[in-house]
Amino acid sequence: MSRALPTIVHLDADAFFVSCELALKPELRGTKCAVGGRERGIISSASYEARACGVYTPMPTKLALKVCPELIMLPHTSGLYGKVSRQMFDLCETLTPHVQRNSIDEGYLDIAPCGFKSIEEITRRVRALQTRITDELQIHASFGVATNKLVAAIASKARKPKGFTVVIPGGEGKFLASLPINVLPGIGKKTDERMKTAGIRFVRDLFTRTERELRELFGTNWQEMLALAQGEDDRPVETEHDDAKSYSQQETFGHDIREFAKIEQIAKRMIDELMPAIRADGKRARTMTVKIRYPGMEDNSCGRSLSEATDLETSFYGLVGPLLRGAWTKQRSLRLVSVKFSGIEGEPAQLEMFSGTAEKKRRLATVLDQLNTGKLPAVKHGHQLAPPEASCAD
Ligand SMILES: [Mg+2]
Repeated sequence: MSRALPTIVHLDADAFFVSCELALKPELRGTKCAVGGRERGIISSASYEARACGVYTPMPTKLALKVCPELIMLPHTSGLYGKVSRQMFDLCETLTPHVQRNSIDEGYLDIAPCGFKSIEEITRRVRALQTRITDELQIHASFGVATNKLVAAIASKARKPKGFTVVIPGGEGKFLASLPINVLPGIGKKTDERMKTAGIRFVRDLFTRTERELRELFGTNWQEMLALAQGEDDRPVETEHDDAKSYSQQETFGHDIREFAKIEQIAKRMIDELMPAIRADGKRARTMTVKIRYPGMEDNSCGRSLSEATDLETSFYGLVGPLLRGAWTKQRSLRLVSVKFSGIEGEPAQLEMFSGTAEKKRRLATVLDQLNTGKLPAVKHGHQLAPPEASCAD
């Protein structure tokens, strides 16, 4: 009998932006509500009650209010989601120091070094973390526990919300077999359509095909697809500690987005979430990189460095448009965008290094941080008020 144990945990917060808002407004629990922009905006995150009514992300708000007239719309709260995200991952680090913050609301934990002795012990400890996140932050997260990142990530999504799924070592192939084929990475909408035409609906259907048929469907990648379908994956958990070399956020959209203004606004909001964290750590950043992903996992990125490191949002806003244009070179819609700050430096030795204007802006930013750590949406940047609103976190 194999004594192998699961080593990877994937957690994915449920309806993250809405959950953060409901933690502040518990009277809205159980209602059909959504975070997003009004007027020309779109839905960023919808409560499960709203989803049951047909609301999804990123649905135009106008349409959402048509399919669900009683929908309660909540505006984005600046800085809130980044703050709750940090608290959630800080709690994860009480279980293991090996935490990969993959996006604002999901990440991987490597529990191999924790020395857990049995599946029962792992289940108990990870469940305790799940309970702690709910008790302390008043949000819910779904968990998947498995031998690798691929299977853990699929497992965490298997029973949302409040899910908890453990895949026993050796049972990966069996676990995946009955799931829809599009749970596998690289199967976007178009490939999914081709699969359906070819009669492949579930992961197990891949194994009924000949090598020639698989080659026709996946080209030279057919063997990799079979390995994924069997639950094989050896990517390590990539840990960044407090002295992280970078700060980043990424968001995968529920539906591909084509509008430049929407993507630009999402990226600017990521700056607004990341910069307070950089300031709180007493750090400054010199380089910003924007990464985009087309459907089908094709990535492209573009970065630029300032002459001096800074901890001001305003210094980076102007780079968003040019960097996005530099990365988004194909006339295709996007599946994902991420913003990363690197070239991280400590506090400057002397404040005189700042020009008078920069120092004024810096003081203002610090005051805004203090206001925004309160429980009310105190201060917003101009681009946060203007529609379209468009980031998503399920
Ligand atoms: Mg989520």
